[in-house]
Amino acid sequence: MLTPFSYFDLLETFPKAGCAVCNLLRRDVTNMLDATLYEFVTDPSIQSKFRASRGLCNEHGWQLVKLGNALGIAVLYEQVIDELLKVVEQAAPNSASPRGFARLFQQNPNAALAAALEPEQPCMACKLQTESETQYISILSQHLADERMQAAYRVSEGLCLEHFRQVLRETNVAEHAKLLINMQSDIWRRLQSELLEFMRKSDFQYVDEAMGAEGNSWQRAVARMGGEHGVFGLRRSTP
Ligand SMILES: [Zn+2]
Ligand SMILES: [Zn+2]
Repeated sequence: MLTPFSYFDLLETFPKAGCAVCNLLRRDVTNMLDATLYEFVTDPSIQSKFRASRGLCNEHGWQLVKLGNALGIAVLYEQVIDELLKVVEQAAPNSASPRGFARLFQQNPNAALAAALEPEQPCMACKLQTESETQYISILSQHLADERMQAAYRVSEGLCLEHFRQVLRETNVAEHAKLLINMQSDIWRRLQSELLEFMRKSDFQYVDEAMGAEGNSWQRAVARMGGEHGVFGLRRSTP
């Protein structure tokens, strides 16, 4: 059986700071947005996707801006605005008299236009991210017994809570799930002791003691619980 690229991606990414899955998702989305901006802004299928999704979501829209290809962004978003204007023009007769589609929204005739302006497709970066996430979670779950994967996991800062829960749900072999829980618990224990050490050294009695690696443990705790910056947007874990 061929080992998928995602396996090697995970091995390489675990030793770096942060949740390996979050980091790979950020990489994949950046690569896709970059390729879109530099190679596909005039591609009709990309333009029609942009029209249908009304551009990118809040999070990915701002990531696109940071990539800095102003002309490429202008070309894509002109298409989106052209689409919105078409929708407004088509809806205009309906908003005057509540007939046909608009009759469904008699209490508020503008609701028909609001519905027509809604994105017809998800943000293309969100879509890619969800597909990549499914792939990484599945590969990680399948390779929990792999020694190289275990070694990489153990030296890492662990998965963020959301991705740990996803791998846990995906893992049906009891022994593998136990391994996963042990590895992640060890990492959480280390982080907890760093937070306690940070709190201790923050006390004025110990202010002379130099702060070590625990100095940014509070930031790492935020990232491990909520995910790396820019990955989940406003997505929340189910309560
Ligand atoms: Zn993550
Ligand atoms: Zn998005």
